[in-house]
Amino acid sequence: MLNGKHLIAGEWVGSDETFGNAPIDGPVDQFAVGTSEHVDAAARGAEQAFLTYGYSSRADRATFLRQIATEIEARGDEITAIGIRETGLPEMRLNGERGRAAGQFRLFADYLEAGDYLDRRHDKALPDREPLPRPDLRLMQRPIGPVAVFGASNFPLAFSAAGGDTAAALAAGCPVVVRGHTAHPGISDLIAQAFHAAIEECGIHPGVFSQIQGGDYAVGQALVNHPLIRAVGFTGSLAGGRALYDICAARDEPIPFYGELGSVNPMFLLPEALSARGDSIAAGWAGSLTMGAGQFCTNPGIAVMIGGAEAEAFAATATGALSDVNTQAMLTEGIASAFSDGKERIKSSSGVRELLSTSCDSRHAAPYLYQTTGKEWLANSALGEEVFGPLGMIVVVDDAGEMITVANALQGQLTCTLHLDDADTELARGLMPVLERKAGRILANGFPTGVEVCDSMVHGGPYPASTNFGATSVGTMSIRRFLRPVSYQNIPAAILPADLL
Ligand code: NAP
Repeated sequence: MLNGKHLIAGEWVGSDETFGNAPIDGPVDQFAVGTSEHVDAAARGAEQAFLTYGYSSRADRATFLRQIATEIEARGDEITAIGIRETGLPEMRLNGERGRAAGQFRLFADYLEAGDYLDRRHDKALPDREPLPRPDLRLMQRPIGPVAVFGASNFPLAFSAAGGDTAAALAAGCPVVVRGHTAHPGISDLIAQAFHAAIEECGIHPGVFSQIQGGDYAVGQALVNHPLIRAVGFTGSLAGGRALYDICAARDEPIPFYGELGSVNPMFLLPEALSARGDSIAAGWAGSLTMGAGQFCTNPGIAVMIGGAEAEAFAATATGALSDVNTQAMLTEGIASAFSDGKERIKSSSGVRELLSTSCDSRHAAPYLYQTTGKEWLANSALGEEVFGPLGMIVVVDDAGEMITVANALQGQLTCTLHLDDADTELARGLMPVLERKAGRILANGFPTGVEVCDSMVHGGPYPASTNFGATSVGTMSIRRFLRPVSYQNIPAAILPADLL
C-alpha cells in the first residue's frame, strides 16, 4: 500500500503540501512534497550512516544487497500495478525491468564477495634500497561517502530509486539519498518500503537510504549543493543533467556528477550488408525504434547509408514497417509534448523529407520517419540531437568518404552500430577508430536497445551522452564512480583496513 511519504533516515515523513501523480487512468494518488529541510535531514542521516556502513564488511553489504532484491520482489505485483497506471508501460516490460533491478543488486553482491573491485596493490618495503629506502605501500579503493541519485522517467525501476546508481553506491559502501522522479512517485514509494524493510532486517543504520519525493527543482538543486553529498548519479535529459552538473562544478567544493544523458545512437549500414539484408535490417530497425514508444536512451534514431537503389528499398521497407506500428502511450504529458516539438523541429529543417507522418493525441505517439542527405545533415548540427520518442532519420551519403565524415561530425554517443558483411571490412576498419572516439559501446549487426548488465558493459560515452566519458552507469564497473583510491604508507597491520591484510 502506498504511504505517500518521504523516507528520511528510517522515518516516514509527510508534508503539509502534496502533489498528485498523473496516471494514464484511474484515481490520482497524493505524495508529500519535498523541501530543502528534508534534503538536509537526509544528507545528515546519510553521513551518520557512512560512519558505520562505509566501514562494514563486504559480506555484510552483500547480505544487505540480496535482501533488497528479495524485498523488491516481494512487492512485485503491487509495483507492476501502480507502474502500469503511472507510466503506461506494459506489464511484461515492468516485470522484466523489476527482474533486472533485483538482478543488479544480486550481481553486485557477488561482485563484492569476489573483491576484485578493490584493486588492491602492495609495494613491499625495500629498507636497503640505495640511495633511499622504499616504504611499505599498499593501495585499495574506499567508498567516497553519501551519494545523491536522480532516476529517469523511462526506467522507473532499473534506472531509478532501485536502479544501477543506487546498487553501485550501496555496494561501494556509500549511503544514498534519492530525489524521487515525479513521473512515478507510486513506484518510488513502494521501492522505499522495500529498502526500509531490508534495512530493518539487516540491522543497517537507517540513514543508508533516504528518498525525498518530488518538489520543485530547487529540492534537487539543494541536494546536489549539500556539503555532505560527495557525488551525484543522474539519468535523464541533457538539459536537466547539464543544469545539475553546472551546480556541482560551481560548489565551493566541486563534486563529481555522473550524468547519463541522451543519444541518437547512429547505425551505419555498410554497402554489402545493405544490399544483402537491407529489408531485414529495416524491419529490425522499425522494431527497435518503436520499442517502448521509442523512449530509450539507446534508441537508434539515425541510419546512415550510401545512396542508390538499396537505400531507396531500405527506406520503403522501413516506412512500411513503421506505418504498421500503433500509437503507444508516452511516459508523461511533458515527454509527449517534447516529442511533438522535436518532430516539428526536424520536419521544418532545411533539406529534410518526411517519409512517414502520423498523428498522435496528447499523450500517445506514433512513429515518424525522415530522410536527408549527408550534406544537409552535416550543415545542421540540430539534426544530430536526440528527439526522445519513436522518430527515425535516414541520412543518405554520397560515398564511403562522406560516411566517415558524418561519423566524425557526431556528438558523443552511448552507442554506435555497424551493419556489415565480410566484404564491408575495409570500410568498417576506416570507421572503427572514429566510432571508438564517439561512443561507449560499438556493436555489429544488432540493435542497441537492450543493455546487458554484466562486467563488460559500458553504458556511457563522451559528452553529451554522459558527463564523464571514463565511466559507465551499467554493469559492475559502475561501482568505480563511488570509490577513490587511498594509499597506505607504513601503516601498522593493527590499523590497516581488513581488506588489505
Ligand atoms: P529529466 O527530465 O532530465 O528528469 C530526470 C530527473 O532530474 C527528474 O527527477 C527531474 O525532476 C530532475 N530534473 C530535471 N531537470 C532538473 C533541474 N534543472 N533541476 C533539478 N532537477 C531537475 O529526464 P527524464 O525525462 O526523466 O528522462 C528522459 C531522458 O533521459 C531522455 O533524454 C533519455 O535519453 C535520458 N535517459 C538516459 C539514460 C542513460 O542511461 N543515458 C537512460 C534513460 C533515459 P522532476 O521529477 O521534477 O521532473
